[in-house]
Amino acid sequence: MKYIDEFNDPELARRLLDEIRATVTRPWALMEVCGGQTHSIIRHGIDQLLPEEVELIHGPGCPVCVTPLEVIDKALEIAARPEVIFCSFGDMLRVPGTDRDLFRVKGEGGDVRVVYSPLDALQLARQNPGRQVVFFAIGFETTAPANAMAVHQARRLGLDNFSLLVSHVRVPPAIEAIMTAPDCRVQGFLAAGHVCSVMGTAEYPELAQRHRVPVVVTGFEPLDILEGIRRAVHQLERGEHRVENAYPRAVRETGNPAALRMLEEVFEVADRSWRGIGRIPASGWRLSDAYRAFDAEYRFDVEGIRTEEPAVCRAGEVLQGLIKPTECSAFGTTCTPRTPLGATMVSNEGACAAYYLYRRLNGQASPAAPAPQGSRVPHEEMNPVG
Ligand code: SF4
Repeated sequence: MKYIDEFNDPELARRLLDEIRATVTRPWALMEVCGGQTHSIIRHGIDQLLPEEVELIHGPGCPVCVTPLEVIDKALEIAARPEVIFCSFGDMLRVPGTDRDLFRVKGEGGDVRVVYSPLDALQLARQNPGRQVVFFAIGFETTAPANAMAVHQARRLGLDNFSLLVSHVRVPPAIEAIMTAPDCRVQGFLAAGHVCSVMGTAEYPELAQRHRVPVVVTGFEPLDILEGIRRAVHQLERGEHRVENAYPRAVRETGNPAALRMLEEVFEVADRSWRGIGRIPASGWRLSDAYRAFDAEYRFDVEGIRTEEPAVCRAGEVLQGLIKPTECSAFGTTCTPRTPLGATMVSNEGACAAYYLYRRLNGQASPAAPAPQGSRVPHEEMNPVG
């Protein structure tokens, strides 16, 4: 398969590993920002193949995981209303809110539907003029342009029964927050290739210079990740801190101009809370004033909902790379994909789910997580939200 098989070649992987081993002379800690990269690393055992000097720290790059509890509770409140068709990507249905999840709302009669695109939700709005259709617009820079396009189209079509519940976040402010945290151990970043395919790389050189960290734009297949690590280690050993693009087949320095125009038209930068981490200045988007009428928080008057994170779940520390999932006492015992206590155990980009699914139960081999009966989102419905 083009662009898949050739990036899984074991012989090339061995050569890259040999190069990394030959280069490294002391310990380095690298953070992969994207949850898709985390899953690829754990699934292929890349972290276990690296020389012991190179540690991979898993960052806050799972969009489902960082969506704040407060926003989940707002989604639950809106989805339970009889006039609403609530549309979401499949990942979000099992993310626990304060006392239930979207599956529970659906079981109790709420009209909750899994869609594969915000444009599917827009179509539902056109087909159901007597209902209010709400799309759960979460994710990083990767999903935001399509959501912007959906609301742009809704305005163009004059639809007054379509809205977005927005919880979009941006990677560069998260890197800034990680690097300025007092207990930060990160010395280099593997930046998410799909984010940079939209945004380009212009936001990163200043971060790399100021924090003296290499930032290597990296893809998602095993050889992509090894190449990203090889370049980051090479820079660190030479005392460099530059932005490098190791994913040129998808990323251009200028990003995707059409997507950037759409983002600028529909959204404005805003402070955002990250689940388990807290508020990060300018770390997300909200609908601009011109699109305010399409904001579900405003339309359904749920802006006042405030919630507290449960103390037992240490997902905030996992998302900041402060602990590995297996260091949480609930991991694999009271918290499993069948009985998730936190979003990082639910999402197919969550670090806790990766460690559980790929058998990292404190280093013990264990059965891979079976499908939770009657409640698990089928894998084909778990479309990643980037
Ligand atoms: S194992 Fe469960 S409880 Fe622990 S941090 Fe992960 S999601 Fe939270």
